[in-house]
Amino acid sequence: MSRIYNFSAGPSMLPVEVLEQCAAEMLDYNGSGMSVMEMSHRSPVYDAIIKETEADFRKLMNIPDNYKVLFLQGGASTQFAAVPLNLMKTGKADYVVSGQFSKKAYKEAQKYGDAKCIASSEDRTYAYIPEITPDMVREDADYVHVCYNNTIFGTKYPEVPNVGDKVLVADMSSCITSEPVDVTKFGCIYAGAQKNMAPAGLTVVIIREDLLGTEKEFTPVMLNYKEMADNDSMYNTPPCYAIYVAGLVYKWALKNGGLEAMKKRNEEKAALLYDYIDSSKLFKATADKKYRSMMNVCFVTGDADLDKKFCKEAEAAGLSNLKGHRSVGGMRASIYNAMPKEGVEKLVEFMKAFEAANA
Ligand SMILES: *Cc1c(COP(=O)(O)O)cnc(C)c1O
Repeated sequence: MSRIYNFSAGPSMLPVEVLEQCAAEMLDYNGSGMSVMEMSHRSPVYDAIIKETEADFRKLMNIPDNYKVLFLQGGASTQFAAVPLNLMKTGKADYVVSGQFSKKAYKEAQKYGDAKCIASSEDRTYAYIPEITPDMVREDADYVHVCYNNTIFGTKYPEVPNVGDKVLVADMSSCITSEPVDVTKFGCIYAGAQKNMAPAGLTVVIIREDLLGTEKEFTPVMLNYKEMADNDSMYNTPPCYAIYVAGLVYKWALKNGGLEAMKKRNEEKAALLYDYIDSSKLFKATADKKYRSMMNVCFVTGDADLDKKFCKEAEAAGLSNLKGHRSVGGMRASIYNAMPKEGVEKLVEFMKAFEAANA
């Protein structure tokens, strides 16, 4: 067996211990005589699994009791519709467009009401996060939507944006559980799990209870937060196995010191990479320093052919999936929780050698 360092933006690396446990339990989970994949979601064994997963997630993220946790399907992209369907009470919502995913969310919301873009960083290819202040938010907007970490452009909010007394909704797909966040500052947080938490197929929604029950009449039942909350995410078959793996990942994170420790490790990994890039004559980081993501590190050589050569040679050296998103080119190293520090060290070593050889 040989594991490589996988810098994919998602689906992405999972902790080796978690994969080993999955493998060991594949034929017989805990004496049940079957895999978690094969289990009825209504069985007592599975009921214990989903309850424990939620409890560990709550502990890890310090989620207050007045928030519901939903385990859903459809990816973060489905939430681009679910959010306006459930939360656009008066029909108005404000969006900050800081990248491709937030733009998609904004476009989707326009189908359901008066969605307004109150700030955008499209003018500079999303190299920064547009700052917002409470006076930019419309008086009668139901919520403000932001994408907390922009996976494609490698930017992140340096702090929780101030939207006054408005409900803040955040897409945290690529940064959830990477560091502590104050959940109470948000009305709703959602995330596709395949970046930092689990295999693809699971989407997690954290929603403040008082925001439930105001969905539009024609909201599909599968997108209805209240319906899902009332049924403990079991209105229909949930993504059982992905939920189970998410639970193992939460246990792994808790065992390794929780989100404070994740943050420290992630900061160290990101610093290793950014510090080298900043000192390099060949590589250049594309995001403005103040807004650099800790999870997705985007960089270029300035020469598309050289970028291509870099990715090809890196792949051959066991440093995989470093190609930037198809819409922007260049390189992107996604260094989520499960990426060990050695992976980043190897990448920096490789970059140094590449720079020397291509000076
Ligand atoms: C990956 C990603 C999405 C899309 O997620 P899907 O689960 O593929 O729909 C949305 N937002 C952000 C920030 C992402 O990183």
